[in-house]
Amino acid sequence: MAIADSYDGFLVDLDGVVWLGHEPIDGAAEALTALAEAGKPTVFVTNSPRIAPAEQARTLRDQGIDADPDRVVTAGITLLDLARREIGDGGKVYAIGTHGFLKQVNEAGFERLPADRWQEAEAVLVTGHPHFNYDELKAASMAARAGSFLATVGKDPTMPMPDGPWPGTGAIVAAVETASGRQAVVAGKPERPIFELGIKRLGLPEGSRVAMVGDRLDTDVGGARNAGLDGILVAGNDAHDPGTKITPDHEIAGLIDLIE
Ligand SMILES: [Mg+2]
Repeated sequence: MAIADSYDGFLVDLDGVVWLGHEPIDGAAEALTALAEAGKPTVFVTNSPRIAPAEQARTLRDQGIDADPDRVVTAGITLLDLARREIGDGGKVYAIGTHGFLKQVNEAGFERLPADRWQEAEAVLVTGHPHFNYDELKAASMAARAGSFLATVGKDPTMPMPDGPWPGTGAIVAAVETASGRQAVVAGKPERPIFELGIKRLGLPEGSRVAMVGDRLDTDVGGARNAGLDGILVAGNDAHDPGTKITPDHEIAGLIDLIE
């Protein structure tokens, strides 16, 4: 019996599972096609806030994987979904992030405020970008202190780079939290919102058996547990933190092992 037989659908991490830095991983496309043919839906779940779902879906299709934008759930889209639930469609937000993320904020229909109009912000949305500055910190923290909904994609303190770890979104969020005295709600893995949106997009009936497949014990497998799902670890990358006590429900070398 294959592992896939135990589940009705899957949430699937992208980097380290489907591709490595956009280089396709052997067997991934074949496995995803087989799951689709077996009537087991998959939704891709990624913490990357910069690239819009439509663009991720295009990259997937280029690699022979059938995917429409609705089947890609990013931490950025989850953050916008959270904001919409909190302040409603078309609300006023102060957002910090890359050009790609800010464009998604606009496309979601929010009114994006300049820093000097922070008083009007109903929500403050924080993601990392390399030009983060004092004016942004000031606007975000003053709006949060005044009671705006404060949320972020994630709190990773660093991101891996060839010359060593660079400050990540978590470092920027920490600055806003310190200055505002508020705690940001986290949309991305390992917190629940991204998993809940992913499950919704699977479109399966209540009580269906869903597993998350990812290459990180803390965010993917640990996050799956937080959300009440099984966690399947794709081993072999830099996934093993000896300090963690999380045990995956299954450990596989690649997606192809789900169906064989
Ligand atoms: Mg990954």
